[in-house]
Amino acid sequence: MKPRRKKPLGEQSWKLEKWRSRCAWCMKKLPSDTQVFGISIALRPEAFKEMNPGTVQPLLLASAGKAVPMMVVKDSSPTKLAGKDAVFQLCSVKCAQALQAALKTELGGNPA
Ligand SMILES: [Zn+2]
Repeated sequence: MKPRRKKPLGEQSWKLEKWRSRCAWCMKKLPSDTQVFGISIALRPEAFKEMNPGTVQPLLLASAGKAVPMMVVKDSSPTKLAGKDAVFQLCSVKCAQALQAALKTELGGNPA
């Protein structure tokens, strides 16, 4: 008998349905009638390999002392075609800038 696909650890708290409507930085609920801000990033292939497209993955930002929900895009999405692998959505410019700064600290040091 074949067991069902094993769920990755921590999937409970990193559900796409939950994070689709929340700010990746301050975790506030995004009002549906408000424009949200997005940041997209390119990941190194070895980092991307273990992630399923179309899911939310926690990205640990050690420098900021928190993990943020990163939405891994599907191969067919415009984001992917633009050369990016994952997106974050944010409630304000302030949150977008804070995340961008943390990402730069965290990922910026790595050679491409
Ligand atoms: Zn926010």
